[in-house]
Amino acid sequence: MQETGSISIHTENIFPIIKKFLYSDHEIFLRELVSNAVDATQKLKSLAQLGEYQGEAGELKVTVSVDKEKRTITISDRGIGMTAEEIKKYINQIAFSGATEFVEKYKDKDASAKDQIIGQFGLGFYSAFMVAKEVEIFSKSYKAGSEAARWICDGSTEFTLETTDKPERGTDVVLHVAEDSDEFLETPRLRGILDKYCKFLPIPIEFDGEVINQTQPLWTKQPADLKDEDYVQFYQTLYPFSEPPLFWIHLNVDYPFNLTGILYFPKVKDELQLQRNKIQLYSRQVFITDEVKDVVPEFLMLLHGVLDSPDIPLNVSRSFLQADANVRKINQYVTKKVADKLAEIFRKDRAGYEQKWSDIGLFVKYGMLSDEKFYDRAKDFALLQNVDGKFSTINEYRELVQANQQDKNGQTVLLYTTDPEAQHAYVVAAQDRGYDVLKLDGPLDAHFIGQLEQKLEKTTFKRVDSETISKLIEKDETTESVLSDEEKTKLQELFAQAISNPAMQVQVEALSPQDAPVIITLPEFMRRMKDMQRVGGGGGMAMFGSLPDSYTVSVNANSAVAQRVLKLEGDAAAKLAKQAFDLALLAQGMLKGEALTQFVKRSAELLAAE
Ligand code: ADP
Repeated sequence: MQETGSISIHTENIFPIIKKFLYSDHEIFLRELVSNAVDATQKLKSLAQLGEYQGEAGELKVTVSVDKEKRTITISDRGIGMTAEEIKKYINQIAFSGATEFVEKYKDKDASAKDQIIGQFGLGFYSAFMVAKEVEIFSKSYKAGSEAARWICDGSTEFTLETTDKPERGTDVVLHVAEDSDEFLETPRLRGILDKYCKFLPIPIEFDGEVINQTQPLWTKQPADLKDEDYVQFYQTLYPFSEPPLFWIHLNVDYPFNLTGILYFPKVKDELQLQRNKIQLYSRQVFITDEVKDVVPEFLMLLHGVLDSPDIPLNVSRSFLQADANVRKINQYVTKKVADKLAEIFRKDRAGYEQKWSDIGLFVKYGMLSDEKFYDRAKDFALLQNVDGKFSTINEYRELVQANQQDKNGQTVLLYTTDPEAQHAYVVAAQDRGYDVLKLDGPLDAHFIGQLEQKLEKTTFKRVDSETISKLIEKDETTESVLSDEEKTKLQELFAQAISNPAMQVQVEALSPQDAPVIITLPEFMRRMKDMQRVGGGGGMAMFGSLPDSYTVSVNANSAVAQRVLKLEGDAAAKLAKQAFDLALLAQGMLKGEALTQFVKRSAELLAAE
């Protein structure tokens, strides 16, 4: 039998169009053809299991081979095969209609839209023509007494179909590689493509003498059958040069959508190194993309691992994906699972959880800031750490400090430092009062503080150096000043003159005699705006960046130094005032350059004086 015919179409020749369209993604032809071969093999397996195929199944594998001399790539399977009639139906009609539909749908789209679509959308069998000038199919159906058939097509709409000799059941697809696609005749290139898309296909894929895939990747197995080592090892196959993960979540749902996968929490060495696009998306073990945007919530993109779902629509555009009900459900499911896992570790192994906090804290805070539902779950296992390294949950911490750190208006004031070293003097002053100080020095902490203040009742955060100690948490008791109002004014003027800097607002305050003689503070509000703006707190805050800093200089009326300054006259008074002010600058880490040099010189003079 031999038959030639014309594939019914309405576009003269769609193949050049396809080829042009898919310019950047020619390599997916291999994914498509190998997937077809795997499908045909799995169908045969099912038929054999059901008893509908009683012949010898043989070694069920798919072989990819390349012949550089003949310029061919061959994909062979021992699957169900096709009769000549089936080739006409499936290849000439079904596969062709898929290709035509694709062209019709996307020919008017701009380049970037096409790129997005193409990365996720298989063109099926006809993608072979992206790299081949001629394609042959040799196929023999599993059905008893079938004759083998050969189909050949050069990418025009004409094809030839004839009987042929093929002893074994299954299909060989032979691509005669076009001149402009030489790269695909190179073994390393083909190996690279197979490694990217076919690494976890469920049927063995042989290439260049070896099997290149794991047919039962870890996520397809039952969690109960797996050990920690298995997860760590699998992580290392996915990301060869990464440090071991902190922990992982094995996902497994079949209703109301189908989703399996493993999500890993990476060890975050440095916030700047956070890597997105580390989650790989599969559909029935075929790699689709590592752009999981929209499929998982933004904050979960910091995780690594694989997701496998046939329910994620792969052949639609981005905006559609966002609106897709399954995608939304998957999104919520994954968020919930992540929260469950964190809650579980927190409950079962608090010490271990605290140890991991430096790695997961950033992620948890990011989640709390970006997802209300996640906040509600995470507020019970998010941790606060104080300067002595002790961890508490948010509620535990409020309980802990409530009695001691409530101000006269009933607000609980949580004190924190963003830099325990630089703000050391202030931290110690607060601790001397019996207050506790939190360490909140992470990149999201400014936002996190804002969020907690909104969520928690009657709670404010203040950085330790935002006010003098007595104003930090204002109590009812007041410290009496030993100075008269007149003396206070004199002292204020003296200091203001000695400092002579418009950014420094001098005031005289009655503090405890033990407190420092001069204390420099930066009001909480002002500093916060600047902090927020630094981590990208939105356009509206841009103006604060250009505002000059405005510090408060509090001169302690009850300090011995203040009293001494008042007793001195002229230059001597100014010198002492300046010295006390410089000491305060020093405690804030603000004394630098010439001011520092002069301070050192003046100190030496004062030391030498009687
Ligand atoms: P899809 O795989 O999405 O159905 P394709 O264009 O890739 O679309 O293939 C069209 C049809 O051709 C398949 O559904 C299948 O019935 C048949 N087919 C393709 N490749 C093979 C193969 N290697 N063995 C058996 N049948 C195949």
